[in-house]
Amino acid sequence: MSVPYKIEAMEEMLVNSSKGAPTKASDRIPIIAKPFVSERAMKLLDVVEKFVEEECIPADAVFQQQVGTGTETRFSAHPPILEDLKKRARELGLWNMFLPKNHFKEGAGFSNLEYGLMAEYLGKSGVASEATNCAAPDTGNMEVFAKYGTQEQKDRWLKPLLEGQIRSAFLMTEPEVASSDATNISLTMKKEGNDYILNGSKWWSSGVGDPRCQVYIVMGKTDPSNASVYKQQSVMFVPFDTPGITIHRMLSVMGFDDAPHGHGHVTFNNVRVPAANMCLGEGRGFEVIQGRLGPGRIHHAMRSIGAAEKALEWFLARINDPKKKPFGKQLHEHGVMLERVAHSRIEIDASRLQVLNAAIMIDSKDAKFALKEIAEAKVLVPDMLLRVLDRAIQAYGGAGVSQDTPLANMWAHGRTMRIVDGPDEVHALQLGRNENKRGEFCLKKINWQKKRSEEMAQSYGLQKRDLLQLDRKWSEKSKL
Ligand SMILES: Cc1cc2nc3c(=O)[nH]c(=O)nc-3n(C[C@H](O)[C@H](O)[C@H](O)COP(=O)(O)OP(=O)(O)OC[C@H]3O[C@@H](n4cnc5c(N)ncnc54)[C@H](O)[C@@H]3O)c2cc1C
Repeated sequence: MSVPYKIEAMEEMLVNSSKGAPTKASDRIPIIAKPFVSERAMKLLDVVEKFVEEECIPADAVFQQQVGTGTETRFSAHPPILEDLKKRARELGLWNMFLPKNHFKEGAGFSNLEYGLMAEYLGKSGVASEATNCAAPDTGNMEVFAKYGTQEQKDRWLKPLLEGQIRSAFLMTEPEVASSDATNISLTMKKEGNDYILNGSKWWSSGVGDPRCQVYIVMGKTDPSNASVYKQQSVMFVPFDTPGITIHRMLSVMGFDDAPHGHGHVTFNNVRVPAANMCLGEGRGFEVIQGRLGPGRIHHAMRSIGAAEKALEWFLARINDPKKKPFGKQLHEHGVMLERVAHSRIEIDASRLQVLNAAIMIDSKDAKFALKEIAEAKVLVPDMLLRVLDRAIQAYGGAGVSQDTPLANMWAHGRTMRIVDGPDEVHALQLGRNENKRGEFCLKKINWQKKRSEEMAQSYGLQKRDLLQLDRKWSEKSKL
């Protein structure tokens, strides 16, 4: 696992520019998280950092070029650099680090916290997650197969997914209903003999554009009249080439098509799926989606922290570029820029602590136990990332919104984080509701404390009195 890894060029660069050169990733683990990180994970974390910085980030532009041009071409592409990176990642022992060791036997044997630390680095590159077989939505989907799949389903889909031979998609959101409330999902799944017949449409189906995407995990309604709205839904595994499925079009994210992965608008017209492809059991769709989303949100959040670090690096590079001197001074000599740097540093560090804490909570029991912390991360981190990105974009002027830096693409992607896996408001509302459960107690406690204070004052012979009480009447004073 701990393959010695060294790239001369980078080593040399770090030695020769010791001013500001970073220490190893393992040395930068926040001190409150360190006791929970194994020696093995620390070693691998350093390998992840070097792999991302030295191979994946430089590969990002090559990948984009290899995807090609034109919708048909881009959504049929399989860039060779990706397979080379996957091979390299496997040699280095960087494979399937996301499956947490205390819940799955199929992964690389790390905790959520340990993978979280690694995911931060993966988030700095567009290709790194897939190169290490840790890319969404496959990660969450593999968890579904590992957690709820039958042996047959695991053999058919989990095995090739774990090997990085195929990809998968998760189809829940629908164009006709407000899908942030999953009880609205209305694709129909009607039992007919030993099959279910699926009718309806889905969109924002991430990954369906990739020709290697072979299985869709689909949520629909099997029992629309069930008294419990949480038991009307089911989740089925649907082979991508089942007759009746059409990928109508791909959706862009603020102009970016995210090819070849992409986000599809898919329709189901009398799609016949064997009942054996039901996940967990009819009416248990909510259980499946809830089980899928917990740790996945932490992965997104940690990758976003890596993206924020990258944005800050680009920001620092620009304000130290000697060629750029507005009004006779380099940008770092304009005080406002350093203040923005400082705020970015503070916000990234605070967010990281929050997310790592959530990961430790999941590790200590399970995702349910960490619901509050996961929701906090889901709301806090995208907001932080967008602020940091915005400052970096601003420092680049026109270049910041163009294709000449990765910042514009990162901003578009970062903006979706406030929507994907449920919009901010839903998580904030839940957090607010739970926090407000203490409201009545807080009111009672504060009133009790006030009363107790009065009693204490009396025991010292004091009357209740405002400290700034004046009782001045001008009319009486003026008579003196
Ligand atoms: C890049 C990207 C990738 C995605 N990938 C996938 C995928 O792979 N699979 C999948 O199934 N879906 C995917 N989605 C869809 C995503 O999960 C949904 O867009 C999201 O859950 C919101 O659902 P909706 O679009 O139907 O918006 P709606 O439910 O219509 O909500 C619209 C807006 O209403 C507001 N709102 C909603 N609820 C509340 C509330 N309780 N209080 C106050 N305001 C509220 C929010 O501002 C929200 O943004 C993806 C989306 C994007 C952008």
